[in-house]
Amino acid sequence: MLPEAIQNLINSLERLPGIGPKTASRLAFYLLRAPEDISTSLAEALTDLKTKITFCGECFNIMMVDREKCEICESAQRDGSLICVVEEPLDILSIERLGAYQGKYHVLQGVINPIEGIGPEHLKIKPLLERIQRGGVREVILATDPTMEGDATAQYLYPRLKALDVHVTRLARGLPVGGDLEYADQNTLLRALSGRQEMG
Ligand SMILES: [Zn+2]
Repeated sequence: MLPEAIQNLINSLERLPGIGPKTASRLAFYLLRAPEDISTSLAEALTDLKTKITFCGECFNIMMVDREKCEICESAQRDGSLICVVEEPLDILSIERLGAYQGKYHVLQGVINPIEGIGPEHLKIKPLLERIQRGGVREVILATDPTMEGDATAQYLYPRLKALDVHVTRLARGLPVGGDLEYADQNTLLRALSGRQEMG
């Protein structure tokens, strides 16, 4: 019914999380009417996203493609014997904002979620274990979200990390259960980080 160019845009928008058919149509028709620079800059930003941004080969945080490793991995100021394991790059931003953490990170790029068909093999778990096997790591902080999936992922990682002879800690309770690390307020997150406890 609709011209192909509009239908294609609606179909693409619908594939984004949290956007249903109604919102997708509304956005598509908005862009059709709006000044051209709005859709041009959106198109450019989307292209840049895939051509200029990539993932750090060491910790899987986001970084610019022209780098070898991300800034945190490369920094000599950061304590490489401490690795904080998070779900998403945004979690790193939340922790960095506290200005209280001097270790390094590892981004799993998700959590184990059987309902959505996400198993350990879909996450950056193998590179984490290999990283620790290379030596020099003393403590791994499991900072996955305090959700069912985040806890299950921490439980999955615990024996595998323990077998590599490192301390394994989990953020202290106090973060809202079921909540997202990314949205936790700074004081709560700071308390959870400094009060972290040895797992097991
Ligand atoms: Zn990195």
